[in-house]
Amino acid sequence: AEDTTGDKFRYADLEVHRTRNPQRKPQLEGLLFGQHFTDHMFQVEHVYGGGWGCPTIHPFAPFQMHPASSGIHIGLSCFEGMKAYMGVDGRGRLFRPDMNMARFHRSSRRLHLADFDQMEFLECLKELLRVDKSWLPAKEGYSLYVRPFMFSSSHNLGIAPPSRTTMSVIVSPCGPYFPTGMRPVRLFVDEHMVRAWPGGAGDVKIAGNYSPTIEPLVAAARDYGASQSLFVLPQGPDRDQAVLSEAGGMNFFAYIDKGGGQGQELVTPPLDGTVLPGITRDSILQLARSWGEFQVSERYMTLLELDQAAKAGRIRELFMCGTAAVVQPVHELARAQRDMVTVAFDPKDVTTLTARFTRALADIQYGHVPHEWSVPF
Ligand code: PMP
Repeated sequence: AEDTTGDKFRYADLEVHRTRNPQRKPQLEGLLFGQHFTDHMFQVEHVYGGGWGCPTIHPFAPFQMHPASSGIHIGLSCFEGMKAYMGVDGRGRLFRPDMNMARFHRSSRRLHLADFDQMEFLECLKELLRVDKSWLPAKEGYSLYVRPFMFSSSHNLGIAPPSRTTMSVIVSPCGPYFPTGMRPVRLFVDEHMVRAWPGGAGDVKIAGNYSPTIEPLVAAARDYGASQSLFVLPQGPDRDQAVLSEAGGMNFFAYIDKGGGQGQELVTPPLDGTVLPGITRDSILQLARSWGEFQVSERYMTLLELDQAAKAGRIRELFMCGTAAVVQPVHELARAQRDMVTVAFDPKDVTTLTARFTRALADIQYGHVPHEWSVPF
């Protein structure tokens, strides 16, 4: 099935139905991630051959789904994660939303979900945020997590392109990832379970990339006391030649001394189709390059190189990054039958790269400094 109308829904057609029963807002203190939702949601449906229906903002409510929906059965489903921040000027702000729109579009096209216009959709999303602006916490560290998603609502048990698409946005108030300040975590370097592979779909944000990461996550927590798995890409039977990839929901960075007085290097895996092109990743790379203080590399790093750097005391910092936690320091890498790689991290030290990226991004996100990445709504 393909869309024969070729139409795209438009912001100009958006209908807004406001709730008569606004919910009580949760206390900011101790707010847990992704557990509370704002009063409204965005929804629009597409039927192949019939085109898009009317884009609507309506009171938050469960979906009615056909039990055969292939979004459920074969995971024809994709999503985005972005945040809205209350700027110091009292304006709500999104961070590089064009990047989320582009990635959402790529993900949805990978699954043959209905085509949409990124800018028309972004305008609808901004309207939802304006409607629910009273939910936007006016406190640094707090934000609204915005979850656009799209899935096949086809009534069809076959493995086939979707003939119906549901697109929606829900919004969840969220607090700082570390209410008590930045805390470094332990990762387990998983050398067996692989998140993505060459020729796969690791570079799009589709549901199928996430469901299989639960088992490694549970095992890493249970067997190694790790908060996440760091996935690698095997390069044959020699495990030491495996290259670092990313965690289940964050990109990975290593800041190393090159040795021999050659200075420092910030390394992250290249966008070769097996890692998600994170917007935080891209922002950190751009900031680092603009600072011009050290080499910035998108390149492979083998476990052997990592081990050797660790043994020589040349690892200065390890961190992960993503929309939810922004920058997450790592102080321990656990490996099966190997010594733990440890990297000292002082949360109070404001001169670490981790702290500097965190500050620089927050300054932009909360509008402390004017920047084209911060887009008011
Ligand atoms: N990698 C994966 C697998 C992710 O799911 C995410 C979160 N979208 C990221 C990295 C970080 O991406 P971003 O900085 O755009 O949130």
